[in-house]
Amino acid sequence: MSDSSFLPDDLKDEQSTERYSALKNYISEDIRRLALILIIAGFIGLGIHHFLLCITLGLILFFALQFRSLYIVNQWISQHSQEPPPDLSGVWGALLFNVYRAQRRERMMQAEMVGLIDRAQSSLMALEEAVVLIDEQHCIEWWNPAAERLLSLKFGDHKRQVLTIIRHPDFIQYFNHVNDFPDGIVVESSFHDGRYTQIKLTRFGYESRLLVAYDVTRIHKLEQMRKDFVDNVSHELRTPLTVLSGYLETLSENEEMPQRWKRAFDQMQQQTRRMNALVNDLLLLSRLENESLQAKNQIIDMAELMNQLFDDAQGYNTEYGHTLNLNLESHNDLIGSDMELASAFGNLITNAIKYTPSQGTITIAWQDRGDEAVFSVQDTGIGINPTHLPRLTERFYRVDSGRSRETGGTGLGLAIVKHVLAQHDGHLEIESKEQLGSTFKAVFPKHRLHRPESEENFVDTE
Ligand code: ADP
Repeated sequence: MSDSSFLPDDLKDEQSTERYSALKNYISEDIRRLALILIIAGFIGLGIHHFLLCITLGLILFFALQFRSLYIVNQWISQHSQEPPPDLSGVWGALLFNVYRAQRRERMMQAEMVGLIDRAQSSLMALEEAVVLIDEQHCIEWWNPAAERLLSLKFGDHKRQVLTIIRHPDFIQYFNHVNDFPDGIVVESSFHDGRYTQIKLTRFGYESRLLVAYDVTRIHKLEQMRKDFVDNVSHELRTPLTVLSGYLETLSENEEMPQRWKRAFDQMQQQTRRMNALVNDLLLLSRLENESLQAKNQIIDMAELMNQLFDDAQGYNTEYGHTLNLNLESHNDLIGSDMELASAFGNLITNAIKYTPSQGTITIAWQDRGDEAVFSVQDTGIGINPTHLPRLTERFYRVDSGRSRETGGTGLGLAIVKHVLAQHDGHLEIESKEQLGSTFKAVFPKHRLHRPESEENFVDTE
């Protein structure tokens, strides 16, 4: 937008006239006036034989006129600058006009900005979402009416610390570590029973924050219904499955069973085992989702856990014949839940064994990486095409569902791993090359590590 678009038409016309375009024009106007005064004074001086006196008086008159103009300019600037300037000629006239024009332009821009702010404010006021501006001192600066409904802000809260008003522990944690929660948080409303609010903070300026919140009760209820449904169905399936497995086992042990029935029974047994595994994984996932806030603060002896995982892997490996290596390089122990971590690490190991053609090499390691510690499983297996990596931890996502079923996979293993790691403030890193192999790394931050006093349990087995 050009500057002149702010000017009213009269100003634009004047702006374009010759009169105010060049300084030399204004000066020549003054010089002409001075010359005229001096010529008249000179003629008068010659007539009355007091030439020098008349010239001096002429100069005094000229400067008196200039001082008068200066006085008028000063008066106008100090008292009436909003009104059009008095009509002065010469340099003072030009100065007056330029000051007047600059001020008008400024006022027009201000009006434009105020209009813009007004429009932005009214659109924010009309929003269904709560919007709260929080200043650098963490005090509430402004909010819209939706914030009053959703967060119960009221008139007296202006300039109060936001953490003294929204005191939910999850919000305090989020406010102090905004970057750790890229999707914001969902909190149960402390003002309205049974309602849930999604809160997202965005940093701007130096340390100011914009809080946007909206009601997610419906989505939360649907999500809860989904969880309950999966949980209930899994529980309900458990009993009939146990009964079925029991009978199938007893029947298949029967020596007199005809051969053609035996095959059918073996298949039935295999499928019930798969269903059992599926139900168990679903129950574990649903427990992980529901227990997300439970403290996980056992100290896990990693040397012991790694050796136990290695033994289990050797048992599972018998039908695959891979070479298994164990690298125990870190002296750190982990702080968390041993059952959950063992299950997540076990999933990574069985996947590596399952998805590696026989006679491969699997290396299980526990190592330090800077401040962090990394549990990794490296295989020389079929690898994964990079296009699948972003979706790999979704429930039931399989690169090759036929192969996964063949190997007895439930499609839930990596979803469980992701959940367990998230609950231990860790994350999963996957490196893979098709036909060459994959490395799955579970990375844990410093605060999840515990350095045992005695480091005698350090082992390095290869
Ligand atoms: P599944 O029970 O099918 O193994 P997971 O959730 O454990 O389910 O794994 C999801 C998919 O990721 C698998 O179906 C498989 O395609 C792929 N995958 C997992 N681990 C590996 C691996 N070590 N090598 C190659 N592919 C893997």
